[in-house]
Amino acid sequence: MGIDYLRLSLTDRCNLNCIYCTPLEKNGFLPHEDLLRHEEIARAAAAFVRAGIKKIRLTGGEPLIKKNVLELVRLVRAIPGLQELALTTNGLLLGELAGDLREAGLDRVNISLDTLSRKTFREITGYDGLDKVWDGMMKSLAAGFTEVKLNVIILKGINDGEVADFAGLSAAYPVTVRFIEFFPANKRSSGFSRALFTTAETRKKIEDAFGPLVRVPAGNGGGPARVYALAGAKGKIGFISGRSGYFCGSCNRVRMDCAGRIYPCLFSPPTHSLRESLRESADDDALVDYIKNAFLIKSEYKKDSASTGHIEMSSLGG
Ligand code: SAM
Repeated sequence: MGIDYLRLSLTDRCNLNCIYCTPLEKNGFLPHEDLLRHEEIARAAAAFVRAGIKKIRLTGGEPLIKKNVLELVRLVRAIPGLQELALTTNGLLLGELAGDLREAGLDRVNISLDTLSRKTFREITGYDGLDKVWDGMMKSLAAGFTEVKLNVIILKGINDGEVADFAGLSAAYPVTVRFIEFFPANKRSSGFSRALFTTAETRKKIEDAFGPLVRVPAGNGGGPARVYALAGAKGKIGFISGRSGYFCGSCNRVRMDCAGRIYPCLFSPPTHSLRESLRESADDDALVDYIKNAFLIKSEYKKDSASTGHIEMSSLGG
């Protein structure tokens, strides 16, 4: 499978403190001087595009807290040959920024939202922000983003009572509600290992409430999701089964974290770092060759064998 999709983390900082994501360690964040600056990110992104990347997704941490993020979106969008620029966000700042992001050239938005209850939102994220995220979703639709996706993690005993409510959202709004299987990544999320709610369990809840799901084409940017729709729905329902399913064979992505480290696989350690080359002003051709080398290593990693047992989602961005 050719590698044409880069997930690009802009920062490891976040404006939420999710119970299963934010590092437990006090010094879990990278020093500021290690984080790539705008010009460095844009230059690295351009080199990735020359190495074959067609789609870039900005993530984090929370990408929208990156200073002057609109300017960065413009810089990356202007890279010749880039076909699609997408963003994954917790949605807190989307209400303010959705229109400007669209104008800056962003093509697509995914919003992470695990609950429709104000109280549970506060319990999961440590912040009373459900109204803001909802406003962010509405403003994204109003700004003209199509195929807005809601990424939902269901955890047993925390929000598994909301599966049917989320599925119902896909009937009422033109969004794709994607249920993503949780997996233990860092020390904090390992504490929730037993809370894993599988795709099969989620699907059963939906079908008990609404009847059999009908498979539909995934559309653009479907990635590893299997996509369905409720009868007469405006939107769709997707399942991403990273834990119970296995999709290494169709994986077309690499990741670069906010310090310039390249991860050929979510479950591998970083194998390359661009930061020194960027700061020592290596020429662009050298950056492209270096990135192509990192792509070659990808085929060596398979989920189970590669696992480091520790993934910092807060810096890598999922
Ligand atoms: N702040 C942005 C957001 O909230 O979408 C981007 C970064 S966040 C780390 C990206 C996604 O990773 C979120 O949808 C979050 O739910 C997911 N995530 C974090 N920890 C996870 C885990 N252990 N298993 C599965 N998904 C996880």
